Amino acid sequence: MKTLAVLGSTGSIGTQTLDIVRKYPDKLKVKLLAASKISKTLLKQIEEFKPEYVYTVEKVDIKGVRNLYGEEGLIQLSKLDIDLFINGIAGIAGIKPTYLLLKENKKLITANKEAIICLGEILKEKYSSIFPIDSEHSAIFQCLLTGRKKDVERIVLTASGGPFREKPLEEFEHITVEEALNHPKWKMGKKVTIDSATLMNKGLEVIEAHYLFDLPYEKIDVVIHPDSIIHGIVEFVDGSMTANLSYPDMRIPIAYAISYPERWDIEAKKLCLWEIKNLSFYKPDYKKFPLLKIAKEAGKKGSFYPTVLTVADELAVNEFLKGHIKFTEIPVLVEKVLEVANFQKPQTLEDIMFIITETEKVFKDIILKVLN
Ligand code: MN
Repeated sequence: MKTLAVLGSTGSIGTQTLDIVRKYPDKLKVKLLAASKISKTLLKQIEEFKPEYVYTVEKVDIKGVRNLYGEEGLIQLSKLDIDLFINGIAGIAGIKPTYLLLKENKKLITANKEAIICLGEILKEKYSSIFPIDSEHSAIFQCLLTGRKKDVERIVLTASGGPFREKPLEEFEHITVEEALNHPKWKMGKKVTIDSATLMNKGLEVIEAHYLFDLPYEKIDVVIHPDSIIHGIVEFVDGSMTANLSYPDMRIPIAYAISYPERWDIEAKKLCLWEIKNLSFYKPDYKKFPLLKIAKEAGKKGSFYPTVLTVADELAVNEFLKGHIKFTEIPVLVEKVLEVANFQKPQTLEDIMFIITETEKVFKDIILKVLN
């Protein structure tokens, strides 16, 4: 029996994790659920999974459970004796919990790429205890098991290309929030769905891969693969490639991370090769999707740049979702913030948090000019 903590339990990753728990009640026990606030969904989850602890940002009273809350609660949470911590928190809110859990040497299963990226400069030595559930990184993890790390020529992350792969560049200005939220292959949270439409998601994943697998940027490539059947490829020095294939279903990488080194049947639809017939691949188009390039460059620069990139993007995506800016203004804003930002190389969590707050201020100044 493995005990689990599910952080971000009401979100896309959290609910899919709980789906797996439902299938394996004899193998998995939820000990803690964490969400930003109390909601109908959270209350239902508490009733169904009966966790010992519930974390929320503000204090709440729930019968039969111990409520951990606020900053102090986060510290208590990170010290709990639980086998696996699953971090499905969206965006930069996931940074602190990730930091605390890694410091406590907890087994962390995480989909929170923002935290991996922002903490990469200061905590990389702890990253061997992270098990990724980002589908591409789970794929790379699995492909790496087929050879020796020193024989790796390069890794290839696949990208669906999002909903606008075939849209002419001239029409990008008029892209609506609704269109951008309509991802062709994956059902995900809002932030990552918009990031997928701009290809920023893939840029962030390149940086994530750099820190997680300790590979130089020259060895990390991106290919557009609209079918979303191959999730990641490792090429070895002899020219041989190992690829990971399945229908796009986040429950597969989540279940693998939980069951590893075992594999469990989660009743995912099995891949039918003659049903898919062909697989197609394209070169990324940087003109339509400048954020992929901007992200890679920020990654290569290292230091404070990956954090600034992450924060600027999250804020720009929020402005787009609120209808304040155009789709094409997301990369413009991110690039402007990166131009202005200048900090010392971060050494501690406080440094990272400082960069985040200062970047938020820079962003506010810039967006005020854009909106006027
Ligand atoms: Mn991904």
